[in-house]
Amino acid sequence: MTVSEHMLQEAVERLKSSGVRITPQRHAVLEFLLNSETHPTADDIYKALEGKFPNMSVATVYNNLRVFREIGLVRELTYGDSSSRFDCNTSKHYHIICESCGKIVDFHYPSLDEVESLAEQITGFDVTHHRLEVYGVCQECKKEKQQII
Ligand SMILES: [Zn+2]
Ligand SMILES: [Zn+2]
Repeated sequence: MTVSEHMLQEAVERLKSSGVRITPQRHAVLEFLLNSETHPTADDIYKALEGKFPNMSVATVYNNLRVFREIGLVRELTYGDSSSRFDCNTSKHYHIICESCGKIVDFHYPSLDEVESLAEQITGFDVTHHRLEVYGVCQECKKEKQQII
């Protein structure tokens, strides 16, 4: 059994124990998310699965993603007015984002907990979480640029 198959089984068990019905579409959306490392949008998932499920709509994909988010299987990353991306890696990690193609890659760095406690002390807020993103140009885009020049 591969790692992602194991993760899929675990995720399905979690859905079942939360009383969520596993439809073939729901299963497919979950499987696609667990196998993708690109932090897809609902639209990406829809496009990848529409051949297999011609009756599925983007709204169905969104609804499934919302269910997964409520159970804590995925994290939703919102970016202002552009569409949200979904991350099935719910462990603490940071993101680096390509400014050219929009790709998001995970990287691990010890959680900056001091920032949270400092912010709390200075502002008196109850801090819930923080988000750190690093921007740049990915390896593929860099190669493409070099070829043009
Ligand atoms: Zn790129
Ligand atoms: Zn991530």
